[in-house]
Amino acid sequence: MIRRPLLTIEAATHRIIAIEQYADAASLDRMPQVEFYDGVLCCGFVNVHCHLELSYLKGAIEEGCGHGEFARQMGLQRNKATLEERIVAAAAADRAMWEEGIDAVGDIVNSNDSFEVKSQSPIHYHSFVEKFGLRQPNSDICRTLLHYPETSLTPHSIYSLNDAEFRSAITTNDPAPLSIHFMESAAERELFLGKGSLYEWYLREGFECDFLGYTSPANRLTQCVPPTKSTILVHCTDIDQRDIEQIASHFTSKVYWALSPRSNRYISNCEPSSYRLLRQSSATICIGTDSLASNRSLSMVEELKLFKDVPLAELLQWATFNGAEALGISDRYGTLEEGRCSSLVQISGIDLSTEQLTEHSTARRII
Ligand SMILES: [Zn+2]
Repeated sequence: MIRRPLLTIEAATHRIIAIEQYADAASLDRMPQVEFYDGVLCCGFVNVHCHLELSYLKGAIEEGCGHGEFARQMGLQRNKATLEERIVAAAAADRAMWEEGIDAVGDIVNSNDSFEVKSQSPIHYHSFVEKFGLRQPNSDICRTLLHYPETSLTPHSIYSLNDAEFRSAITTNDPAPLSIHFMESAAERELFLGKGSLYEWYLREGFECDFLGYTSPANRLTQCVPPTKSTILVHCTDIDQRDIEQIASHFTSKVYWALSPRSNRYISNCEPSSYRLLRQSSATICIGTDSLASNRSLSMVEELKLFKDVPLAELLQWATFNGAEALGISDRYGTLEEGRCSSLVQISGIDLSTEQLTEHSTARRII
């Protein structure tokens, strides 16, 4: 973090010509064409986990109902809106993300609803085509969606595909990472032990799982995903130290731990805590907003506010560089560098004495 930064930026191209430090306010007054911004300046954010196509579900599902009930209500609410309503909602969410300063998004897709909006957007989107379905996997729609640009296949989660289907969703010839919902609630671990709400639900529905022999989500992950495959694990609220060590020792490529604390709060009333274990293990943390079905806004700064004891510089690394690296786009996004064309974001409402975000902190795009 540079104190009193002075950036020289080419107006037409947004190329950063120089990053320097100014001495004091009086020296700025002597310079022509200088614009002063209060607070912190950073590059554009990278939101590694979103479902833009679910934006029309904003406020539709009751907060704090728990993971199982959330999934049930999603099923009831889905398809209630017209295509036009879904597209209008996605366009508004895309615009809000851009205005807050989000440059790039890792976006989960189950339908083609959001592609038109994304093709018109200044935001860079990578769309993860998500395979799921214990009884009837959605293979046909996955094949169709993979024809869109900037898409790649990924399994939805550790618990929603039987073994052959799960393995077939792990591409080895595609450099794009996997993006797997992972240990979002205790029910995922309990399923492998033959108990808990997910297990009971599957029992009621008559779903058959041929993967419970792995005995834990981490075992299934490490025994099915090749060590060289770059992987984004999303949510990770219920992980323990053993899971982190097991996963870290399996993978030779980098693992990205994507946290979406406001979504976890929305669905399960749970406060983030796993980031403490991840930080102690020097794991690479990045940030996703999840969708408006489980969040009040797609704001990166609102997510960051929930990690009250983490220094701001580290939080911004999670929200920018780590996310860009996770999506394989760190050559263009995630840092302010001389010679690079870049966005510029102002974060205001910061407590400058402690260098921490406050409840009033907001971000807005300058460039
Ligand atoms: Zn998600």
